[in-house]
Amino acid sequence: MNNVDDLEIKKFEALAARWWDPTSEFKPLHEINPLRMGYLSEKTSLAGKRILDIGCGGGLLAEAMARQGAEVVAIDMAEASLAVARLHQLESQLEIDYRRIPAEELAGSEPEQYDVVTCLEMLEHVPDPSAIVAACFALVKPGGHVLFSTINRNPKSYLFAIIGAEYVLNMLPRGTHEYAKFIRPSELAGWARSAGLELQEQRGMTYNLLSKRYSLGNDLDVNYLAHYRKPAADVAAND
Ligand code: SAH
Repeated sequence: MNNVDDLEIKKFEALAARWWDPTSEFKPLHEINPLRMGYLSEKTSLAGKRILDIGCGGGLLAEAMARQGAEVVAIDMAEASLAVARLHQLESQLEIDYRRIPAEELAGSEPEQYDVVTCLEMLEHVPDPSAIVAACFALVKPGGHVLFSTINRNPKSYLFAIIGAEYVLNMLPRGTHEYAKFIRPSELAGWARSAGLELQEQRGMTYNLLSKRYSLGNDLDVNYLAHYRKPAADVAAND
């Protein structure tokens, strides 16, 4: 089992010192963080919940969730990013449990331990995203929530997410994303369905070139969020 692309991890480790610089390569993640946090808190209250963040990077989302009162475990395979995340939480005075462990391995040791699992902007960086989706199913409690976000694969997403973001606007370093690894909502839905997750809703995250702002909407063509749940345990079956 090795569902980790070492080149991807090296790419993120090289940038790790800048995770918390809102003007850095991670600027887009800083900008979408309030949007996705707002979305998640609409779906479920976070206070007191046990949450797993997969592919946490420097901890942008993990800290925001912990600040809402969640008990957060956050995993990534880039040690340098985890080191930055651990340092930053001292400053933020939050208690997040950062670990370097593959999601599939954690799924073996902590099955059904999490009320919420988040896996944002990460699936498009792994060799076999369907295995991560299956691990999310295994990790979340019955009735729990799973939130994914990734990038769709079509000519428009190629134009916006690669040509636009990496070559025209220089928002992201060249080579950040690989078109072939982008994921159509139907592909994600297929993996999730096979794993046993039920689709609740999908929302687009679009960038407005004029206002330079992101917003949530119905356009799933480029960046999108997908909300899934694991079916609640069947009480009748336990009779
Ligand atoms: N989820 C964060 C960071 C997204 S960047 C956010 O949205 O703010 C993608 C992250 O996925 C990086 O931190 C990278 O190190 C991590 N990653 C890539 N492959 C991984 C893997 N196989 N397992 C865990 N994390 C991985």
